[in-house]
Amino acid sequence: MTVTPHLPTTRVLATRAELRAALAEAPRPIGLVPTMGWLHDGHRALIRQARSEAATVVVTIFVNPRQFNVAADYTKYPRNEARDLEICRTEGVDLVFAPPVEEVFPPGFDTTVSVGAVAGPLEGAARPGHFEGVATVVAILFGLVGAERAYFGQKDAQQVMVIRQMARDLAIPTAVVACPTVREPDGLALSSRNVHLDPAKRRAAPVLRQALLAARGAWEAGERSAHALRERMLQALAAEPLADVEYVSVADGQTLAELDRVDGAALLSLAVRFGTTRLIDNEPLGAGPPGG
Ligand code: AMP
Repeated sequence: MTVTPHLPTTRVLATRAELRAALAEAPRPIGLVPTMGWLHDGHRALIRQARSEAATVVVTIFVNPRQFNVAADYTKYPRNEARDLEICRTEGVDLVFAPPVEEVFPPGFDTTVSVGAVAGPLEGAARPGHFEGVATVVAILFGLVGAERAYFGQKDAQQVMVIRQMARDLAIPTAVVACPTVREPDGLALSSRNVHLDPAKRRAAPVLRQALLAARGAWEAGERSAHALRERMLQALAAEPLADVEYVSVADGQTLAELDRVDGAALLSLAVRFGTTRLIDNEPLGAGPPGG
């Protein structure tokens, strides 16, 4: 694949028409990085991977109201477009699509993309409507951008699987690329929501990673009982009084169905609240990233 040098400046577009016009003259292949803004080093890693593989890098910044099942979570989601654009410029992004809500969901918009079994458990069960919102907006962005490849974080492992299923089923020719989770030195996965953690909760938050690693350690030592692995995670989380556990899961790496025994590829995952801030993380076991 020949990769042509990218455009020298970052252009910021707010409407579908502007995006369409810019894409008409953009060198291919196109790499798409969908985000909700408040960019951090996790997003940067996706952008860098896109930059290394695509002639044109498109970053979308859109806090999608349809994927928030709790209204307050949407209104308090952190936003700083000026800072995000500076990061995009530094990373050599060609096009930033930062539309207002009505540009993505114009008046009369009345379609929902609902993915089946893989969207059901875990985040799908904990956040009703979340994956419909994600799949719907990503289908729109895939349609608008027509990228050869789109980059997503393994931190949201189930989201990657849901989007892959959606793209396959709807015959969308954009390849879904999963990128490794970027972490703070103490193991906390970078997330825009980390900004809401006060110092005590921030000190407590690496317990997610510690719980996952405790279970991974037990699995590496030969433990195959999914129940025992869940118990290892719960035990580690119990040591942290600020951690309010929503779920721990040991699921099949392809279907995300909860397991009794871990015999093939599996996904350890958890969701934990610290006050009103909800954090998730995961760790694949065996045979590469799930759905990868
Ligand atoms: P968000 O802006 O939170 O919707 O995330 C946009 C994309 O960045 C999604 O594909 C996320 O999975 C990905 N992402 C978020 N945090 C991380 C991280 N710590 N490491 C890698 N990718 C991430």
